[in-house]
Amino acid sequence: MPEGHSVHRSANDFNRLFAGRALTLISPQGRFNAGAALVSEQTLVRASAVGKQLFLRFSNDLTVRIHLGIYGKWQMRELEPDSANPLNLPVVGEVRARFYSATAVADLRGPTVCEVLSPDEVDLVLKRLGPDPINPDQKGAEAARFISKVLSSKSTVGQLLMNQSVISGIGNVYRAELLFRAGLDPYRPGNSLTSDEVAALWFDAVKLLKIGVKTGFMITRDELATKRPTKTERNFVYKREGLPCRLCGHEVSIAIMASRKLYWCKFCQR
Ligand SMILES: [Zn+2]
Repeated sequence: MPEGHSVHRSANDFNRLFAGRALTLISPQGRFNAGAALVSEQTLVRASAVGKQLFLRFSNDLTVRIHLGIYGKWQMRELEPDSANPLNLPVVGEVRARFYSATAVADLRGPTVCEVLSPDEVDLVLKRLGPDPINPDQKGAEAARFISKVLSSKSTVGQLLMNQSVISGIGNVYRAELLFRAGLDPYRPGNSLTSDEVAALWFDAVKLLKIGVKTGFMITRDELATKRPTKTERNFVYKREGLPCRLCGHEVSIAIMASRKLYWCKFCQR
């Protein structure tokens, strides 16, 4: 499942290709016909991301909300200036929604959610979502919201990081890596942490997600952030169970937490 950085990259791509332009929206597969008709031919005001959800706001104040889930995928491309009419572009596979202008096309396949919301409905969704470390106001209210949610919970910090109402956009890779970088045992309850420890987690999430948005990869080893590390080099503990910890040499552990695999070092994380 994509983590928050990739959804922010999709929002950036959408703004670059379509913001300020009128879009045609169709549902080649048919399952989004009614929704598409509500916003088709409207101008895209802005694309934005909160955690793993993408919001496309149109000039008639309606918003398309998209959550890719496990199987969803975007395919976006610019069209050659003299290329054929975008109407005639072939549809490959089950395309739930196709957004297009005279210059670009975005195809959406297999999302968990693709729906049209009124402004009030958007507010309801946003209220349920925890703060997103990549969105503005990172140093003020949003950090404070995260800190107070963690400090007031008896759940383990490993569960809290995967809870999208506590913090938006963190998935399995960032969870394991943030906890390793902080030297925190994933099984510690939120209310056993100090506010400094929780604040440090937040600001490290801001740092790592920014690297992810910039590079497109979840690189969590600082010395590799400006290089092009391979999948097996990028991380400290993620998918490295049984291998020696990069810091202490002990075996990296694995367990299931919040129904996902958790990777950590029992010696470095206390
Ligand atoms: Zn270690």
